Amino acid sequence: MASPPTGRLTVITGPSGVGKGTLVNQLLQRHPEIWLSISATTRLPRTGEADGVQYLFLSRDDFEQRVATGGFLEWAEFAGNLYGTPRQPVEAKLAEGRPVLLEIELEGARQVRQSFPAAFQLFLKPPSLAELERRIRGRGTDSEEAIVRRLERARVELAAEAEFDAALINGDLHGALEVLEQLMGLTTAIDT
Ligand code: ADP
Ligand code: 5GP
Repeated sequence: MASPPTGRLTVITGPSGVGKGTLVNQLLQRHPEIWLSISATTRLPRTGEADGVQYLFLSRDDFEQRVATGGFLEWAEFAGNLYGTPRQPVEAKLAEGRPVLLEIELEGARQVRQSFPAAFQLFLKPPSLAELERRIRGRGTDSEEAIVRRLERARVELAAEAEFDAALINGDLHGALEVLEQLMGLTTAIDT
């Protein structure tokens, strides 16, 4: 009997502020067939973020309850908050044959490597640490304490680049988007 269709799973990881969200937004605009997983987090919403859109915002108790019942495909603590990928929707979309994208940090990517060894794992890099700091500060969404924690964590994440299937420098955004499309094997509309 033929097996059911399964979509391809892609994981994008990279230090906070490198531009993952920005790049993924552009990718989704050009490729609406891709389904982006909405993560759960215990961090507070930033200005402009809404529950169920950027994240499912959960209390620590609710998050831990979901961990206990196996509700997450992966989860990790990052800069003092918990983040996790709800399992059920990802499995459902893959079973439908949709390409699925996870935008998650290093520990989560490592867990997915165990559970989905066939997933394509991409590491997004900044042109330099100084540019990374400029982007985090320029975003204007994090407290000084959060910025320091994110930059400390960035050094750890950057040292893990070799674990990934490919690494991509997010210098010029449009150029990075085109390389990302090539790496994911996506055909693109011709730019005018
Ligand atoms: P992440 O999701 O990795 O934390 P964001 O997408 O929030 O990062 O981007 C962090 C900041 O960097 C934002 O202000 C964004 O506009 C900016 N940014 C993203 N990509 C680029 C780029 N290629 N060149 C310059 N600035 C960028
Ligand atoms: P932010 O607070 O800036 O939105 O996200 C902080 C970090 O958490 C980013 O590196 C982001 O990729 C990561 N992240 C977001 N969702 C998840 C998730 O579901 N699981 C894991 N492991 N990391 C996540």
